[in-house]
Amino acid sequence: MSRRWLFADQLGPHFLDDRRQPVLLIESKAVFRRRVHHRQKAHLILSALRHRAAELGDQARFLRTETYAEALRKVREPLEVRHPTSRRALEFVRRRDGVTVLPPRGYLTSLEDFADWADDRRGALRMEAFYRFARVHHGVLMQGDEPVGGRWSLDTENRQPPPKQADRLDVPAPPMPKEDDIDAEVRADLDRWEREGIRFVGRDGPRRFPATAKEAKSRLRHFLRHRLAMFGPYEDAMLAGDPWMAHSLLSSSFNLGLLDPMEAIRGAEQAYRKQGAPLPSVEGFVRQILGWRDFVWHLYWYFDAGWQRSNALAARRSVPRWWTELDADAVDARCLSDVLADVRDHGWVHHIPRLMVLGNYALQRGWRPTELGAFFHTSFVDGYEWVMTANVVGMSQYADLGRMTTKPYVSGGVYINRMSDYCGGCRYDPKKRLGEDACPFTAGYWAFLARNRDRIPGNARMARAMKQMERLSDLDAVVAQEKQRGNDPP
Ligand code: FAD
Ligand code: SF4
Repeated sequence: MSRRWLFADQLGPHFLDDRRQPVLLIESKAVFRRRVHHRQKAHLILSALRHRAAELGDQARFLRTETYAEALRKVREPLEVRHPTSRRALEFVRRRDGVTVLPPRGYLTSLEDFADWADDRRGALRMEAFYRFARVHHGVLMQGDEPVGGRWSLDTENRQPPPKQADRLDVPAPPMPKEDDIDAEVRADLDRWEREGIRFVGRDGPRRFPATAKEAKSRLRHFLRHRLAMFGPYEDAMLAGDPWMAHSLLSSSFNLGLLDPMEAIRGAEQAYRKQGAPLPSVEGFVRQILGWRDFVWHLYWYFDAGWQRSNALAARRSVPRWWTELDADAVDARCLSDVLADVRDHGWVHHIPRLMVLGNYALQRGWRPTELGAFFHTSFVDGYEWVMTANVVGMSQYADLGRMTTKPYVSGGVYINRMSDYCGGCRYDPKKRLGEDACPFTAGYWAFLARNRDRIPGNARMARAMKQMERLSDLDAVVAQEKQRGNDPP
């Protein structure tokens, strides 16, 4: 039996076909030397890898080296490895003698089935169409040939603003893992690495994300029992006092390979069929995993490698240091300051702060999409290159002019005001675009449209906004004001 080489994002039991198969695990320090990671992300990766090595005991050969190549020089037997999750890693394993590359695990639709589906489509690829295909293909939430409940998406029943007067959602908090001796050892090693000159961003803190398959399953069970019902309605809402809302906090567990996504999908379906969980929440959660997560994974491989470097809106400004250093205290705008502080303190915020606060702000300022992708990749506990390309370059920065989305995700402060409790306590006014108290998101929105009026002229979904922009009597003043604001923290 060949030895199975498991990358640090292939750590769950579903990455082994035979429970007794010999395993190779490699911890490479160079990964953390090459790029500045969030301290809690580095902790999570090392903790998960070392916990897996401890679970496997003598079954695993665990090598801690500077680089992968150095580790592989010590291994003289044939290896097999599941398809890695980045182009660079795939090339690396393919170039090596004696290494067999097996199909990927940890995603639901196979590369071949996705390619067949995508090859058959004319025009742009859309998640909604892929999601329908995947629901039928995998038989998820189906009643015969029809979706349960009669509609494929129940999103109109979700997406509510946060409950009025509430500081936090009325749901049990997600259970946090208990740190152990392995975490203590990781923390001591990272402290030492910092003294040796390896730099991290963000604050250290108790480990909040699962490092073992057992911890991930336990978080999933708790979510399905206690939090799923509230997931749908408040999926898009933000509250300053509640960073977690009713989200599952499972992305890092899926992405480390600790949890099989099908287990989460079947668990959610069972919660609907057997425990009466509300269908809009169940369908919404299933869509995130079977739809969005798989779609994003497949587009990374299906589109050409150059997609990652798209910059059709000619965004040329550098991402500023106060942003990459997560300097929340330098920022007055309450929404942005709070979200940056959450990233600094947890290495995680939910989808809407990523898309409609961080991504929206960057899009309005014209920051380089590749730099922004690198920021998300290294500053979030769940960040990986395959996730970045679609979510940052395609969805959030519209740098490919809509290969996967129908319009840019850009909005003014009015959206943030509706979906959060941020604006009440802010020195800016979400309705104002000009003057001392002009909301940087509202002003930035109009300045973005003005700057890109010739780059996105043909987009029907933007036509109304463009017309409105052309009619603004103070547009030139707003553009001048935003030019002056430049890259300074708002
Ligand atoms: P939930 O809200 O509970 O959703 C359930 C699961 O659905 C998630 O765990 C995740 O696995 C999956 N999912 C939902 N949407 C997406 C999506 N668009 N892409 C991929 N998976 C999705 N997700 C990452 O896993 N890693 C990232 O680095 C990442 N960066 C992002 C950057 C930007 C700018 C944007 C807009 C989105 C990004 N996402 C990323 C997607 C999404 O925001 C996170 O997966 C989600 O917020 C993680 O929290 P959760 O586990 O509580 O998710
Ligand atoms: Fe954010 Fe503008 Fe609201 Fe302030 S007023 S919290 S900057 S959206």
